Amino acid sequence: MSFRVSTSERIQLKDITTEVASEVKKSGVIDGVALVYVPHATAALLINENERGLVSDLTWTIKQIVPWDRSYEHNRIDDNAAAHLTSAVLGCNLTIPITDGKLERGTWQNIFLVELDGPRQRRVIVKAIGK
Ligand code: ZN
Repeated sequence: MSFRVSTSERIQLKDITTEVASEVKKSGVIDGVALVYVPHATAALLINENERGLVSDLTWTIKQIVPWDRSYEHNRIDDNAAAHLTSAVLGCNLTIPITDGKLERGTWQNIFLVELDGPRQRRVIVKAIGK
């Protein structure tokens, strides 16, 4: 199961909680785990609160993880080394418990796709594993 996400900025957080929850519901799994995965080397996933100020703070912080203006070796062939490096630090998968047929999230936990080299079309894979 997968869905697509369009991004509009070079670095951008997109809340994909509704889409992931919908895939879990379609799976029919009542008790298990949802593996959420982005098959991309310049995107990532994270869980945190979807509050406008915090999303802005997260975006700022993500930009600080890896400096963009360094002369990276990968930039000899592709001008996006910082995007790859930030993706490697943040990670491209999440594992979320499924309980009573729903994602078991904290009140302030939303699922974000982190675009690091947008704008692009991204694919998000959701595997609901369980019974
Ligand atoms: Zn590259």
